[in-house]
Amino acid sequence: MRVGIGHDTHRLAVGRPLLLGGVRVPHDRGLAGHSDADVVLHALTDALLGAAGLGDIGDAYPDTDPAYRDRDSRFFVGDTLARLNQAGWHVVNIDVIIFAQEPKLGPVKADIRRHLAELLGLGAEAVNVKAKTGEGVGAIGRGEAIACQAIALIERSSV
Ligand SMILES: [Zn+2]
Repeated sequence: MRVGIGHDTHRLAVGRPLLLGGVRVPHDRGLAGHSDADVVLHALTDALLGAAGLGDIGDAYPDTDPAYRDRDSRFFVGDTLARLNQAGWHVVNIDVIIFAQEPKLGPVKADIRRHLAELLGLGAEAVNVKAKTGEGVGAIGRGEAIACQAIALIERSSV
């Protein structure tokens, strides 16, 4: 078994949709970035790449590559999962913490969990989503940014 960790932060900006774990979350601003800036899917991709020893999202999907501009970040998770599966790994479970002062994520946590489970082909019990505020401190506390930490456990598929 192997474990990997991922972390990501994106700035909130007007005129952008807010996507968290592939779920469109109602808010007056969204996350800015080269792709769709889904901070949850980026942290998750990094956790999966890390667990398999495959580097990081910036190496695997460079933001200088126009192919990834405004890209649906579900692509990064799906492609990484395919690479893991090809190398004989499957995902055991993931745990995710989203750091956001606004909006309140209580009402959407279950949706995000369900969506991540679907994306990874896992049961909902193998996917955990937690949400924390920034306690009013720093860029997250001021509502300027949203961050995410993810951890993933993988194991060799039995043949
Ligand atoms: Zn990112």
